[in-house]
Amino acid sequence: MAVPAALVGSGANFAAVRARMVQRLVAGGITAAPVLQAMGAVDRHCFVDTALGNQAYEDTSLPIGLGQTISKPSIVARMAELLLGAEGARVGGLGRVLEIGTGCGYQAAVLSLLAREVYSIERLRGLHEKARTNLRYLRLTNVHLLFGDGMVGYAKGAPYAAIVAAAGGSSLPLQWCDQLAVGGRLVAPISGADGQQMLLVVDKTPHGLKQNVLEPVHFVPLKSGIA
Ligand code: SAH
Repeated sequence: MAVPAALVGSGANFAAVRARMVQRLVAGGITAAPVLQAMGAVDRHCFVDTALGNQAYEDTSLPIGLGQTISKPSIVARMAELLLGAEGARVGGLGRVLEIGTGCGYQAAVLSLLAREVYSIERLRGLHEKARTNLRYLRLTNVHLLFGDGMVGYAKGAPYAAIVAAAGGSSLPLQWCDQLAVGGRLVAPISGADGQQMLLVVDKTPHGLKQNVLEPVHFVPLKSGIA
C-alpha cells in the first residue's frame, strides 16, 4: 500500500523543523557531535499529543499528561552533553545510565543513542505505560523501562556510569551517589533554601564526590512513592 502523501509531507516537514532545532542547539552552545546527532535523530513529535505536534521542535516543555511535562530540547541536550563529559565516559564511552523520571520516554530515547544501556524509572504508572508505547516502535533494545520510585535509584543496574534526574528535590538521595561508579557523573536539578532550582553536577572520583552548581533550571518536583 502506498504511504499517504500527507504523511510523507508531514514527515519531511518534521525533519526540516528538527534540523532547525538542532541549529538552535548549536547556537545555544551545545558542541558535542553525538548529542547533536541524537537530537537530530529522535522524532520528538511522536512523544507528544498529535495536537501539540507543531510545537514539538520549539524550545519549550510540553504537557504529557498527569501534570507532567516533556523537558525542553535545550535542557535534554545540555544534560546529555554533561553526561558525556564524565571522566569514565571520556575514556571508554558512556556505559550504563540511570534516568530518574521517564515521563514520555523522549530523553530515554535520546540517551539510548549515546549510552550502552539506559535504565529509566518512572513513579507514575500511566506515564511508564505511555513511554512503553512511545518507545515500542523505535525498538531500542538498550532501553529498560522500570516502574518504581526513583528516589531510591535502581540498585540492580548499579554501578552507573551516569545518573540523570528529570525531576528536582531539595536534597540529593544518598542512593544515587552510592549507585554511581567511580568516574561516573550525576546530573540533577536541586532546589536551594530560596526554592530556586539549580542544575547540579556530582562527579564520583577515587577521592570522593566533587560538586558543581551550574545554571538555574525548571523541572517538575521529585516525589516519593508510586502512583
Ligand atoms: N525525561 C522525561 C521528563 C519527564 S518529567 C521526558 O523526556 O519526557 C519528570 C518525570 O519524573 C515525571 O514523569 C514524574 O512523574 C517523574 N518523577 C518524579 N519523581 C519521581 C521519582 N521519585 N521516581 C521516578 N520518577 C519520578
